[in-house]
Amino acid sequence: MTLQKDPRTFLRPASLIALAFASSTLLAQYKGAIPPPVEFEKGFEAITVDLAKHHLSYLAGPECAGRGTGQLGFQKAAEYVAARFKELGLLPIGDNGTYFQGVPFNSVAIDEAGTVLTGPMGEVRIGKGLGVSGTSESAITVEAVVFLSMKQGAALPEGLDLTGKAVVVNTDDLDQNARSAVNRKNPAMVLVVVQQAARPVPSISRGAQGGNRGGRGSRSVEIERRYALDLARSLGVDPTLVASSQGSAEGVTSKEVSGKLGLTVKVKAEEIKVPNVVGMLPGSDPTLKEQYIGVGAHLDHLGISGGVVFPGADDDASGSTAMLLVAQALASNPVKPKRTVVFMAFCGEEMGLIGSRYYTENPLIPLERMDCLLQMDMVGRNEETANDKADDNVHTIHLVGSKRISTELHQITLDMNKHIGFEFEYDEEGVYERSDHANFARKGVPITFLFSGFHPDYHRPTDTIDKINFDKVVSSARLNYLVLQRVAGLPEMVKRDVGCG
Ligand SMILES: [Zn+2]
Repeated sequence: MTLQKDPRTFLRPASLIALAFASSTLLAQYKGAIPPPVEFEKGFEAITVDLAKHHLSYLAGPECAGRGTGQLGFQKAAEYVAARFKELGLLPIGDNGTYFQGVPFNSVAIDEAGTVLTGPMGEVRIGKGLGVSGTSESAITVEAVVFLSMKQGAALPEGLDLTGKAVVVNTDDLDQNARSAVNRKNPAMVLVVVQQAARPVPSISRGAQGGNRGGRGSRSVEIERRYALDLARSLGVDPTLVASSQGSAEGVTSKEVSGKLGLTVKVKAEEIKVPNVVGMLPGSDPTLKEQYIGVGAHLDHLGISGGVVFPGADDDASGSTAMLLVAQALASNPVKPKRTVVFMAFCGEEMGLIGSRYYTENPLIPLERMDCLLQMDMVGRNEETANDKADDNVHTIHLVGSKRISTELHQITLDMNKHIGFEFEYDEEGVYERSDHANFARKGVPITFLFSGFHPDYHRPTDTIDKINFDKVVSSARLNYLVLQRVAGLPEMVKRDVGCG
């Protein structure tokens, strides 16, 4: 789910209670639900809580690091989804016979080959001891190095002169106050001693090239402890100043020596391609297979931002998981859809529905022959607002946009829900424009959008897998599996009787 213009509307204190971990049940249908149509039963039963946990654990796990568009974690997630598509027998319909439709983005990234810290300890580079954040360039040389050890909360002595010098300080000594205090003394560079330096994260945008190529002044970088120890030794400084992360027992200890250090940071700006992941199950009917049903979710989330991982377990690892479950169901069911089904996991949704916009501007199948798109974005939580308790929303879900273009699609969704038993809420939050389906609706494609509602962890690092209601993920996938099977067997495409978007 992408942000609307003023995100504060949805941000509330994190102190609100988190949901209990939802336990699995044999059947995820809710009270009053009737069994699925017998010809669709095998697929229905192939959609399980265990499988949902399996996919979601990977997509919202450490490997994918929040799936930021243009970040390594997104690529891992895309490869995971493509591998599942392949296992399930979907055809690759992306670029050059792959499952990837490359979407162009601008990337401004640290040029690793051109970035180096030099000094008496030798060269320290990205991936080998040096960590650089941001995307501005630097070229700094100093003739003096101050080793600083600080007790947490200690104040810097008034007379300590850091102007134009390099400061070497342990990370654990540097709380925000200490960091500001050091920076106020105008050092030329700050070398923060860490156990392991973080890899740089590129800045991805769609607009004009970003990045500050003429960066000047102070620069803070990370240096791994073994290199900081080498630096101290080669300058004849007591290595205990950088050996421990405990800080000085005496408050502040500093040692200044002369020594030459050079820091060069280069950035490179380039256009990169980030994929929408696309796979197709051809229809079983020779005529109807020329018409298409889409199943969509966005694979991206906020990734790593400011050194913090935003896992996006609900937003939208839950929908991506549900999409994979629908593909699993179709592969497992002996009765195959007569129409062709296209699965789409979009990139760049959180940056403003970019991957889906690119898709609808460069469709891989004609949009006028697209029967409908079933979008799932945030289908794994119980809505929780100031006046609405999570416990009251265990089996509720928002059915958004289903009546906007085709009342027939809406009615089919209601009919199929008899086998699930969701209590539907409608688009009272005005989220109709806020996920990928909006780009398809604008082109006249009937859509439904399943969304389980906002919660206090929305777009926060606390949107984690332990809070997911897996029964709801499974039920969302089962509902759309049944809707898809029903629409796929109709003699005509669903009627577009209301209008466009
Ligand atoms: Zn979102």
